[in-house]
Amino acid sequence: MNIVLMGLPGAGKGTQADKIIEKYAIPHISTGDMFRAAIKNGTELGLKAKSFMDEGKLVPDEVTIGIVRDRLSQADCEKGFLLDGFPRTVPQAEALDSILVELGKNIEHTINIEVEKDELVARLSGRRICKTCGTSYHLIFNPPAEEGKCDKEGGELYTRADDNPETVSNRLEVNMNQAQPLLDFYQAKGVLSNINGQQHIDLVFADLDALLQSSRS
Ligand SMILES: [Zn+2]
Repeated sequence: MNIVLMGLPGAGKGTQADKIIEKYAIPHISTGDMFRAAIKNGTELGLKAKSFMDEGKLVPDEVTIGIVRDRLSQADCEKGFLLDGFPRTVPQAEALDSILVELGKNIEHTINIEVEKDELVARLSGRRICKTCGTSYHLIFNPPAEEGKCDKEGGELYTRADDNPETVSNRLEVNMNQAQPLLDFYQAKGVLSNINGQQHIDLVFADLDALLQSSRS
């Protein structure tokens, strides 16, 4: 089962990816892990990628695509894989299509976990930290017993500048603008499945699982 999983920051993509790879026993292929492995193994492309990263530059598509090709050719991808964080752009998606043709594979599921922007902002800006002991809370996922106060010693909770809703919203806007052409690309090909990510984690997975099962017969 070959899957491309997409979702904006805060949509719960990582959590759902973990659940999918556990149930379907396929490797989770994230761009970060792929780069780290290629660099650690000292592959030619890995070293190339490292030279760009060391200079603080973006790794060019041809290098990234080569690393993806190498990774997808490995034996553990024979029964399937879950791609996460790649492709990120339409040219990368087109390159992925060519790689798959070359390898005699195809993507069975292109899935986007959908969550409205307001909800993403709430999720991504909910972190609160205790000024006294540094304990971290989250207004939605792990709220303190009393608003604004640490459970341990009643210390005052503050919001990091990075977690400011306006900052989060601006960052998200950038992500959304980057993601849209890719979603349009897959939509136009008629292969995009949208999953409602604005429900309990277990329900999101139930929907995902039903989608993955539906094509197995
Ligand atoms: Zn505290």
